[in-house]
Formats: sequence, C-alpha cells, structure tokens
Amino acid sequence: MRIDGPLGHAIAEFAHLDRVLLASDYDGCVAPIVSRPEDAKPDPRSVAALAAAAALPGMDVALVSGRARADLAALSGLGDPVVLVGSHGAEFDTGFADPVTAEKRALLDRVITEFEALAARFPGTSVEIKPASTTLHVRNASPEDADAALALAAEGPASWEGVHVTYGKAVIELAVIETSKGHALDRLRDIGHAQAVLYIGDDITDEKAFARLNLPGDVSVKVGDGATSARYRIDGPDDVADVLEAVVASRS
Ligand SMILES: [Mg+2]
Repeated sequence: MRIDGPLGHAIAEFAHLDRVLLASDYDGCVAPIVSRPEDAKPDPRSVAALAAAAALPGMDVALVSGRARADLAALSGLGDPVVLVGSHGAEFDTGFADPVTAEKRALLDRVITEFEALAARFPGTSVEIKPASTTLHVRNASPEDADAALALAAEGPASWEGVHVTYGKAVIELAVIETSKGHALDRLRDIGHAQAVLYIGDDITDEKAFARLNLPGDVSVKVGDGATSARYRIDGPDDVADVLEAVVASRS
C-alpha cells in the first residue's frame, strides 16, 4: 500500500520536524499475530525501516511491547540504537520504572500459581511469566473455555489488592507494578526532547499510548479493526512496513 492521503500528509509533516520519536508496538504490527507467541517473527521490511530510521539524525526509534524486554529483543533482533521497552511500557533497559520489591515478587508468585491452576483446568490456555507480570493466554482454547478462564481470572487474582489488570486480545495480564504504554511514550518523548511522536499499535493496551498523543504534530496509527482513539487506521503488518518506510523516505 502506498501511504498517501491524510496519513501520508501527516507522515511528511512529522518527518520534517527537527526532533521526533518513531515508536511501535511489536505483535500485530511489526510481527503478525500467531497462535504460538514465540513464533512471532518480524517483517524484514519493518526491521530494516526501523534500523534505518534509528540511524537518521534527530529521530529516536522505540518498540513498546507487552512482552518481557529480553523476549522482545530476542524475537525482534533489534536493539541499540532502537530502544526496546517491555512489559507494557514498564521495563526499560535501565530496569523497571517502578521497582519489583520482594513483597511484589511474592504477590506475583501467588498470581502465577492461580494462573497455572486455570491453565491446567482449561485446555489450550497457557501462562506466560514475565519479570513483573504474568499473562494468561486463551487464544488456542475453545470459546467456552476461553470465556470461563478469563472470567475466573477476573473474579480471582485480578481483584486482589496490588494487582494491576490489563486486558488484551485473548489475554488477561496481571502485573504487580503499574504499567502503561502512555507513560513510556511520555518518558521517551522527554528523554529525546521530541517535538512529535508517531505511534503504531493494534491492541487495547495501545489505547493508553494513543491517548497521550495530543501535540499538534503527533501521529497515532491503529492497526486493524476495533474502537480506537487513534487518528489514522491501517489494515495489518504489511501496511506498518509501508508506514515505516514512508517515514524513512520522507526524512532521508
Ligand atoms: Mg500488539
């Protein structure tokens, strides 16, 4: 897809500012959604465009994912100068924005125990463990089992004090620290003194990022269907590669 029309115009304006931040979610954007999360290989065009963008003067580039940061690094193959932020915006290369104390770690262990019991009970569900959170995946379960497992998670550990809940597509994630992709973008914008931010995301958690893009040059891009506060919408990872390439071409 050639990026033209209002989005093409917004990209051109963004790319001509002195200092900008180009950021994207990973799954569903740079990589397709797959049934086994460990198989989510990035689109080579997007990887090349992100690396090229990070080499341009005045442009900071970041991936902001729900995954653990180490997992994001291994799967994407990207790293410095591309900034990787994991755990829904809470996990930077310098560690967690909010420290994981022994008490929080113990709470996380109790949540993991509950999730593992649900995964043992409902076939096709699985538990992902991250440094400050755990995710129950229900994408591969029957619709009935998926609904039942999510409901029990919501009534159970999600309601505990000190547990922060994030709902995504076919997942529920419980963290023991506060996480927000919006906070992460605010922080990255401050660090780089960016005049504008372009952010691409496909999931419910990305709405917190879109909601923070209020400056005149900011560009928010939603991938796929679903309600969104983003200003622009594209279809899928192929279009993400087109957008990233358009940013690089526009600035080069
Ligand atoms: Mg995503």
